[in-house]
Parts: sequence; structure tokens; C-alpha cells
Amino acid sequence: MSPKKQIWNHFTQLGIVNGFVKKRVRCNYCSYELSEAAGRCKAHLRNDCLKVQNNVLRQYFGDNFQRNNSNNVSLEPYNVENLFDHLSTIQEPQQDELKLLFAQAVFYCGLPLTFPELEPIKILFKRVYSTFELPTRRRLTGSLLDQIYTDTKTKINQCISNTEFLTLISDG
Ligand SMILES: [Zn+2]
Repeated sequence: MSPKKQIWNHFTQLGIVNGFVKKRVRCNYCSYELSEAAGRCKAHLRNDCLKVQNNVLRQYFGDNFQRNNSNNVSLEPYNVENLFDHLSTIQEPQQDELKLLFAQAVFYCGLPLTFPELEPIKILFKRVYSTFELPTRRRLTGSLLDQIYTDTKTKINQCISNTEFLTLISDG
């Protein structure tokens, strides 16, 4: 592998920096600091770095590499195959668990039911967790709502049955 293709030749390793748990690195081109994680550093060069020269990008990502938009952070969904390699597949039970957690977040936080169908949310999830399928609104208001409702009801019932006195306050 040529030196230009090694990610750490494009970043200065800073080690542990005050206030951070993980080791940090600084981009050699724009001085942006981020965690020492190869995937994130590649993503920084690929998408976000405003100062890195095109010839450096081509040496690293290949001759045909071209940014969608060289001066702005790209908000388009893009191929994340290198970004989170370890997350490239999600098994069915994990997919279901994530959907349930997502639904719980929507219901408990009073987020709109259209939340998973909002374009910026889709883009965000695509980027951080490309293989997670956001539940549709239909799924959210169907089986997921039923499941969260049942779970919550069970928890509340347990609470009530363990309590001697109860004051109920609601906020419409
Ligand atoms: Zn940079």
C-alpha cells in the first residue's frame, strides 16, 4: 500500500486529549480534530474536508474519485461501504430491536409520527447506520405502537401493584 493510501499519513495523531475519552487526530489539511477512527477519518477526507487537494483525494480514493460538491458538506445519501464496515449487516432480531427502540423514542418523546419519513432524518440514519431500515409510519402506528403500548402498560401495572397510594397527574 503506497504511503498516500494510509489514512494516518493524512492526520496527525494527538493521543488522548483533555476532555476526550478516545484518542484524537488532527487533519493535516484543515486542522479539524476528530476521534482516531479510520472510518471517520476517511469520511472526513471524502466528504467534509474543505482544504484537502483533489490530487490527494484521487491518490487516496482512486483516479475517478469526485466529490458531489467540493465546497459543501454533502447531505446526499452516499455509499458508506468503508465508513462503518463492522455494521455492514444487521440480523433480523437486531433490526427488530432497533425499530422498537426507535418507536419508543418517537412515542416517549412525543415526536411526530412522520419523523422516520422526514427526508433529513432518512439521510442522517442512512449515513450513521446505513443498513438500519427506518420503520415506516404505517409500521410505527401499527405493530410497533401495539408492542410499546403493551410493554408500557405492563410496567405501569407492576408499578401500581407495588404501590400503596397513587396520585395521578396528567398533562394534556
Ligand atoms: Zn480536513
